[in-house]
Amino acid sequence: MDPSSAGSGGNSLAAVAGTDAQKRRVCYFYDTEVGNYYYGQGHPMKPHRVRMTHALLAHYGLLGRMQVLRPLRALDHDFCRFHSADYVAFLRTVTPETQLGRGRQLRRFNVGEDCPVFDGLYAYCQSYAGASISAAVMLNHGTHDIAINWSGGLHHAKKSEASGFCYVNDIVLAILELLKVHERVLYIDIDIHHGDGVEEAFYTTNRVMTVSFHKFGEYFPGTGDIRDIGYAEGKYYCLNVPLDDGIDDDSYQSIFKPIIGKVMEMYHPDAVVLQCGADSLSGDRLGCFNLSGKGHAECVKYMRSFNVPLLLLGGGGYTIRNVSRCWCYETGVAVGEELKEKLPYNEYYEYFGPEYSLYVSSSNMENRNTNKQLEEMKCKILENLSKVEHAPSVQFEERIPERKLPERDEDKEDPDRRPDPYFDRFLSARRRLKHSARSRNTGDTREYTETEAKDQHGKIPTTEHRGPEPMEEDLGSSKQAPPADANGMAINAPGNVKNEPESSPK
Ligand SMILES: [Zn+2]
Repeated sequence: MDPSSAGSGGNSLAAVAGTDAQKRRVCYFYDTEVGNYYYGQGHPMKPHRVRMTHALLAHYGLLGRMQVLRPLRALDHDFCRFHSADYVAFLRTVTPETQLGRGRQLRRFNVGEDCPVFDGLYAYCQSYAGASISAAVMLNHGTHDIAINWSGGLHHAKKSEASGFCYVNDIVLAILELLKVHERVLYIDIDIHHGDGVEEAFYTTNRVMTVSFHKFGEYFPGTGDIRDIGYAEGKYYCLNVPLDDGIDDDSYQSIFKPIIGKVMEMYHPDAVVLQCGADSLSGDRLGCFNLSGKGHAECVKYMRSFNVPLLLLGGGGYTIRNVSRCWCYETGVAVGEELKEKLPYNEYYEYFGPEYSLYVSSSNMENRNTNKQLEEMKCKILENLSKVEHAPSVQFEERIPERKLPERDEDKEDPDRRPDPYFDRFLSARRRLKHSARSRNTGDTREYTETEAKDQHGKIPTTEHRGPEPMEEDLGSSKQAPPADANGMAINAPGNVKNEPESSPK
């Protein structure tokens, strides 16, 4: 079966407003700094893959098909909505130079080997978490149907502990943001690793249902047993689909679609968060599944077809030429564009030889998941799902009224408006951008200064710090200007990992 043609959207819900071919309003968050963060030599996690993804998006012309936004950086109090204050303070203050004197805290917070201290660690957390929260804000305000943050999806982080290359759990923070407006949020995790941090955070609530498809058995993080189904109010609102090595596209979709189709029918979520970890792709440096890029993207296509506000996040993915091709293809799915197979020339072109194809192929590895096993598992999970109470048909009444983000006039503010500091900061950043544009037009060369950044964000040591702003000026269209990366600006500063062989041992 060609997964790209499987099921033409595939869902059968009567309530779906549109067909799969219908356009979606998409916003995409990208921080031009994110590719510079560097976990250290030989570490498999490479934020550079997000920059490679961005380069592909630019050269495929996809940046002109969606609103491109620079994320607001998350602040302490944003993190503390989930994480403990002492852990956040530790992340903010630890440096590669000072860590040696903080051995006890390093052990307590599980920071060290898998989750090393590196230069700019806290700013990195602020960036990827800020992007996920900002993306949730956009969905809350109803201005977009799909919001994307490929730098996010760090699903292993716990309240007071780093884990599996993850420091702060941007997914939990984004879901908490979505819960301000949406009554029920569905979280789906297709990373090869169990989405343990998100599951744990919402294990006892029925306002979030978590569904994780993952390799189980002698594999990190070791959790995700099919018998783990939630607790108390959350019982039956947690699903785990444990899989074995070598699962291919057909096997994966034979279980993904029936389960998720049933979840959508029974749970009727108001918003969906899809963690698109790309370590479930064939040939991943740390993974052992055998999904093709199209097979992976079929999950995105399927979720898009329900026409429910959708947050797409990254996650794992350690063969970075595959990660970037996968997420580029999936961005195409989000905007409803089938991209041509031949990769356009780009600044990372040599990574993609000798085929220079957008498609990530599967291999001939053995599939250790038998149809019988998958069928039994599906039945067991559908049985658990039948115990979920049908979602009430009454709409959640506290929805924030839709309003256009750019046009809001601060002089006509509704004093009874729901407080939303993120949205306020977002608007303030946009106003400053307008001011700056006006200043340029009048010959005033004043630009953003570090002081302005401090006004808004405290002591963040960067002048490149603007919060979510429309990036159309410099990034919005590949026709107007080359992507920021292409200019060889900040990306070639120290920390650029472009030339490091990705097969280097851990
Ligand atoms: Zn993973």
